[in-house]
Amino acid sequence: RAKEENRNRFCFFTQQMGLDSIKRIQLESELRKSIGTQRYQLYYQPKVNAITHDICGVEALLRWEDEDGQIQSPLDIIPILEHSGLIIEAGEYLIQQACRQLKKWQQENYQFHFALNISARQLLNSNIVETVSKAIVDTGCDPQCLELEITESVIMADVKTALNKLMGLEALGVKIAIDDFGTGYSSLAYLSRFPVHILKVDREFVKDLPKNKDNITITRSIVELAHNLNMVVVAEGVETEAQEQFLASIGVEEFQGFYFGAPMPLEEFEQQYLTAPDIYPNDLKVHDSE
Ligand code: C2E
Ligand code: MG
Ligand code: MG
Ligand code: MG
Repeated sequence: RAKEENRNRFCFFTQQMGLDSIKRIQLESELRKSIGTQRYQLYYQPKVNAITHDICGVEALLRWEDEDGQIQSPLDIIPILEHSGLIIEAGEYLIQQACRQLKKWQQENYQFHFALNISARQLLNSNIVETVSKAIVDTGCDPQCLELEITESVIMADVKTALNKLMGLEALGVKIAIDDFGTGYSSLAYLSRFPVHILKVDREFVKDLPKNKDNITITRSIVELAHNLNMVVVAEGVETEAQEQFLASIGVEEFQGFYFGAPMPLEEFEQQYLTAPDIYPNDLKVHDSE
């Protein structure tokens, strides 16, 4: 009996694995053939100035539309793109799209920063410096306003290559942000050897502020050290007024989170943040001169 059960279990597992890998191959093929189409979209989430609450930046976040028109999360899609290597080609497309959108906003005189995420293979195993350089030249966007977000774990995965690539990117004039800071195992002192301009404190530390004593201590010391290293600090995942007030009180410069706005499609973002002359007279255009 045990033998039979084992055999059944074996069959069940292989069938299941078969289904999963067929699904995965289908998904991969969909992802591949839709590169360069509308099915790859960027959603936009505002970043706001901690004092004025005016929009001062935007993070572009990938959304992918499946065969049924359902919007899929980057948390499901990016790992498949990474694993298959499709991230290189898809990433090139997204970098071009991002620079094109940035140029468009710059032509309309909006001066906010535009952040785009770059994953491990994109940074370490592709010609990222050339790709970004080409997108800047092709679109004519001002690279000073372009920020590339890279997690500390990607840097730590291959320190030498990462440093090399980041220096190349910095030479193009783009800014580098460390994303999800605090979740990896690197120290800020160590990261200071890299050309990093912005530090994004991970949502995990923001989540139960200002109740959690440990997180108060951690965020305080992250902010202090980051400032000593001349980095701008952004808090991710700000969802409440209490979080926002505590973070402002310890000197965080920028907020991003549902409290201020969730990621949304381009049209919605523009409608909500870029065309409200009655609410924000002249405000949106003056960030660079503040
Ligand atoms: P991330 O770069 O850390 O982006 C922030 C994530 O937190 C986003 O999830 C955003 O929707 C979510 N978020 C923002 N504010 C709040 C909040 O107040 N509360 C909570 N609970 N969540 C909040 P999203 O859009 O699902 O993206 C997940 C991750 O996927 C990103 O994390 C980034 O690492 C990656 N990703 C997204 N777009 C791209 C892309 O174009 N290229 C690459 N390589 N990676 C991307
Ligand atoms: Mg990010
Ligand atoms: Mg992040
Ligand atoms: Mg995060």
